[in-house]
Amino acid sequence: MTSLLELDRAALRAWLVERGFPAYREGQIRRWIHQRRAESFDAMSDLPKELRAQLAETFVLRTGTVAKHQQASDGTEKLLIEWPGGGRIECVLLRDEERRTICISSQVGCAMGCVFCASGLDGVDRSLTRGEIVEQMLRLQGLLPADERLSHIVVMGMGEPLANLDNVVAALREANAKDGLDISARRITISTVGLPPALRRLTREEPRFHLAVSLHAPNDRLRDEIVPVNRKIGIRAVLEAADEYFEASGRRLTYEYVLLGELNDRPEHARELAALLRGRTALLNVIPYNPVAGLPYRTPTVEAIRNFRDELERRGVNVRFRQRKGDEIDAACGQLRRSTPAVNLVAIAPPSG
Ligand code: SAH
Repeated sequence: MTSLLELDRAALRAWLVERGFPAYREGQIRRWIHQRRAESFDAMSDLPKELRAQLAETFVLRTGTVAKHQQASDGTEKLLIEWPGGGRIECVLLRDEERRTICISSQVGCAMGCVFCASGLDGVDRSLTRGEIVEQMLRLQGLLPADERLSHIVVMGMGEPLANLDNVVAALREANAKDGLDISARRITISTVGLPPALRRLTREEPRFHLAVSLHAPNDRLRDEIVPVNRKIGIRAVLEAADEYFEASGRRLTYEYVLLGELNDRPEHARELAALLRGRTALLNVIPYNPVAGLPYRTPTVEAIRNFRDELERRGVNVRFRQRKGDEIDAACGQLRRSTPAVNLVAIAPPSG
């Protein structure tokens, strides 16, 4: 059966009208799904019984199954979701004071090949549908008590969002909609390796979200090695497309830089990076590498991190060193699918359905 989450507004309205129901039921159904957290059509108590019955005959509200649900002591929760057509992805809820941030996936696997990342080790199987992306949001929202709302979304789970642009944007529009999750566009982040043609299309079609570009190296020689897809693109083209997005959106960009011990963490890399970002309105987000079992990359030493930071700050780069959350449940990046559970995590029985 089709997930109702696959339908956009127009399609749901058309379905209703075809069956003789008024079009305004569409907004009612959407609020039930996104805001009142209905998990069945039967729960939608102000819809006519006949409509509820017909919806239930035609659609489902969830297609995935939660294969694993983990919770860390810092409040981070992570779901491993299995889709009927095959493929498993993960998504994460992070709690940080008032913030309730979710990190969602855009593809099963990833084709970008970043050498340090667990998500792309087996390549990409397929892109997720819009409904599968929305389902992650709703399932994570469902982990919150009724009086708490999701505040931020980052598309930083498995996959490359710009390689699945249409479905990602469709799902994020739902997240942003007044009768959807109603999360403001500046609290929604698309993280990308930087695919210029897709990025230009995003600039033309929907330059409202916050953009984060995964740079990881200050020159092409090193980026070709760390982010292999760069061989066909080059840093200059990535920065140019990102500059255009900034022009159109007016929102400060973030550049992400995973700091890999003895690979991209030397003072000269910091100096080169500062030169690259000079004159750009951007925040540099430096993330110490979160080791992946079986890969030879290391977290930099405390001293290397400090030196790297000093070099950047001395050059006036607007830099933030990100703390890791959910380490103990491998919530960082594409790791759950392959890892065995860590010792100090609390495993929770998966919710039914
Ligand atoms: N494909 C997109 C989004 C997914 S990755 C992108 O490349 O941006 C989200 C971020 O997590 C990227 O910056 C990625 O480089 C980073 N990341 C992946 N694996 C990591 C690891 N093991 N430790 C730290 N950061 C990691």
